[in-house]
Parts: sequence; C-alpha cells; structure tokens
Amino acid sequence: MKIYDNNFLNFHVHQHESGKEEIVIQSLFLQENRIVEPGDTVFYTAGLHPWHADLLSGTEIEYRLQKLIEEKKIIAVGETGLDKIRGANWETQLKAFSLQAHIAEKNNLPIIIHSVKSHNEVLKLKINLNSKIPWVIHNFTGSEQIATDLIRHGFYLSLCHHIQNSNSRISEYFNTLPLDKIFLETDDFNVNIKGLYHTAATKFGISIEELKKQIVMNFESLFN
Ligand SMILES: [Zn+2]
Repeated sequence: MKIYDNNFLNFHVHQHESGKEEIVIQSLFLQENRIVEPGDTVFYTAGLHPWHADLLSGTEIEYRLQKLIEEKKIIAVGETGLDKIRGANWETQLKAFSLQAHIAEKNNLPIIIHSVKSHNEVLKLKINLNSKIPWVIHNFTGSEQIATDLIRHGFYLSLCHHIQNSNSRISEYFNTLPLDKIFLETDDFNVNIKGLYHTAATKFGISIEELKKQIVMNFESLFN
C-alpha cells in the first residue's frame, strides 16, 4: 500500500471525512453494514466494538468480515477489543474479540483495538494466539510500563488528544516511546490532526515533515 508522505495520517476515525492533506482510516461498525469504497485518502477497517459485542452472532461476525476482506474493502479488523467499564458483558466481549482476532490472524491482517482497563487481557490473547501480526491499541492512555510491555510484544500505539493535556499520564512520557511504533488519531473527538502532529513533533524534537514521513513509514510497515 503506497501513500504520499506529505500527508497527515489520521489513524482512527469513525464519521470524520479526510480534510486537506489528510488521509484517514475510518473504522466501520460491523453491525451497520455500510457500503464503502476505499479511495486515495480514505481506508477502512471493520469490526464489532466491545460496546456492541452482543449485537451480532459469531457466525454473522465471521460472514461479514470475511466478505469485506475478500472484496478488499478493509485493511484491518477492528475496532474490536475489551472494555471493563462499558459495553456488553465480559464473556460476550471476550468471545467476540477472540473470534475477530482469529479471523484477522487467518487473513494476515492487523487488528485495531479498543482497550479500557483490559491491556493485560489483550496482551494475553496475543501471546496465546502466538500472533506475529502487529496489533494496534487505539487512543492509548496507559502507563509507561504497559506501553513498554505492549511494544515489546509487537503492538503499535495510536495516540489521541490526551497527549495535549499536560495533566494526563501519557503526556508525561509519550516522547520516550519508539517513533516507529506510534500513530496519531483524532477518533471522533473535535480535535485537529495537524495540531496533534504539531504537539508530537515538538515533544519528540523533530519537524512536522519528519514526523509525517515516519508515520507513513509506520503505516507501510504495519499494512505490508
Ligand atoms: Zn473509535
């Protein structure tokens, strides 16, 4: 997959369309059955979110994902994951997540993960699956210790507006993360992707141009 490295890659959105000089990865909710056509500035992923984990049966999850994969509409599975605060009951979430992880594995695709107070369970599943495909935790806000553990096990971390909040845990250490393991995203928050690049570039002590190039390289190594 080739994209131009003078663009701002916005790793995770739902409704947001790509703006000027922006490439977005839109995450589709599998239960909505939207018909999409990937283009030069928009890529898609699809999955059953842990908040919606009870909306589709296992058979239906598998059928819908397999169809999207075969039609080459999506470049990753997700957003799926685990959430201890909100969503369907834990067993249902776990079942839906591990099924989607298996489907991703079988098709050689990365997974985009929503993880709330569940990083250890997510890590355990990747280890149990013996998955060699990189997984990405989106809107990551965890501790430095868990960030290090996840990266050591082949995860990428996608960072959101919390890096701009000087009271947040992530803002204190994110500039020590390896630059080849991160992405930036707005999710559906009302924030500007260019502002996030500016904050991150400043903290990493590099130019915005260098950061754009790096993140496009990360995109290429994740999806190729
Ligand atoms: Zn999301």
